Amino acid sequence: MSMIKSWIDIPHGSEFPLENIPFGIIKHQNSLRPASRIGDLVVDLYVLAEAGYFDQIIPNNLDVFSQPTLNSFISLGKRKTNAIRLRIQELFSADCSDLSDKPKVANRCLLAFSEVEMMMPVQVGDYTDFYSSIEHATNVGIMFRDPANALLPNWRHLPVGYHGRSSSIVVSGTGIHRPKGQTRPHDDQPVVFGPTRQLDFELEMAFITTGDTQLGNSIPVEEAESHIFGLVIFNDLSARDIQKWEYVPLGPFLSKSFGSVISPWIVTLEALAPFRVEGPEQLPEPLPYLRQKGANNYDIGLEVYLQPEKAEPSLISRSNFKYMYWSMQQQLAHQTVAGCNIRTGDLYGSGTISGPTPDSFGSMLELCWKGTRPITLSDNSQRIFIHDKDTIVMKACATKGELKVGFGECSTTILPAKQ
Ligand code: CA
Repeated sequence: MSMIKSWIDIPHGSEFPLENIPFGIIKHQNSLRPASRIGDLVVDLYVLAEAGYFDQIIPNNLDVFSQPTLNSFISLGKRKTNAIRLRIQELFSADCSDLSDKPKVANRCLLAFSEVEMMMPVQVGDYTDFYSSIEHATNVGIMFRDPANALLPNWRHLPVGYHGRSSSIVVSGTGIHRPKGQTRPHDDQPVVFGPTRQLDFELEMAFITTGDTQLGNSIPVEEAESHIFGLVIFNDLSARDIQKWEYVPLGPFLSKSFGSVISPWIVTLEALAPFRVEGPEQLPEPLPYLRQKGANNYDIGLEVYLQPEKAEPSLISRSNFKYMYWSMQQQLAHQTVAGCNIRTGDLYGSGTISGPTPDSFGSMLELCWKGTRPITLSDNSQRIFIHDKDTIVMKACATKGELKVGFGECSTTILPAKQ
């Protein structure tokens, strides 16, 4: 596969070649605007729009490209947003002179990554968190229930999920305070209140939808991708001790709503198309509304690093998005099958993505197996859960031969509990 050549300098092996062209929101000189990224440079899309480069695709488009979130851009629909993505790709490719001949505009639209601050790419409307990795669900079932019946009876029949909280989803770089809450450390002793002692991350990917549907309508599984704009890395921070006490019978509540972190660039499904792979075999065969054939998963390598204050980061997990048992299309078909409408900017977490081996588990709970197998870090300190001032960094990158399409980082530092 030969890569598209550019007239700007793209470092060899960059996760942001012309094949990627993700979308995000930058803050530059106190102004928020839609942007893309190529190599180590950020492309200010407002400047390109103002110079008329997108007029053929969307007439009178300055309003869309001066918004502080991507919601209006995403709501244009995939036909138009794809056309914009391809136009950006064309403008920076070596065999197109539309922009390279206009150095003033080119200089104004290209910014060093270090010059800008990355902001929340979308205003998240509704947020759903699934539980779709069979390895993760099995591990949790073994640890907390019964190794012989680790998966609950519904698990292989539907993508289990719950409706989460969107107000506390924040962008990479935002610190999160250790949450406080009720726990019951010992079943025969009183309930206590205080900062969580079992703070964990969950390695997830999340997709963002485009297009509003009508209440009462469902999205067929074969049409689901036309509603998926793109993906981000998602760290669904979780307080395991609070979760264990509160989750019966309605599911997680405060143990997961104190902060979840996303990576700033939304990588489109189109950029990820070369990395499609078949998912695991589904047995029993799902009901017809969830049934699909072909390569519906995406091969995206995932890494988690834990970095104590003043120490080097340690790689503590390597997983892959391709392990998901339930695909994104099945998740969206299931989400809407009862008639729930969706809207542009909704976010759907995959659920913790664990692989088959112990070094590919997607949470501290599993990596340290409920606290029984501590992890040793680069500074020789040990962890079974996250400490204050630890930074969790997640990375995601799809690779095929020379081609890389990456997401950058999803990073957050844990701050002490507020008084
Ligand atoms: Ca989760």
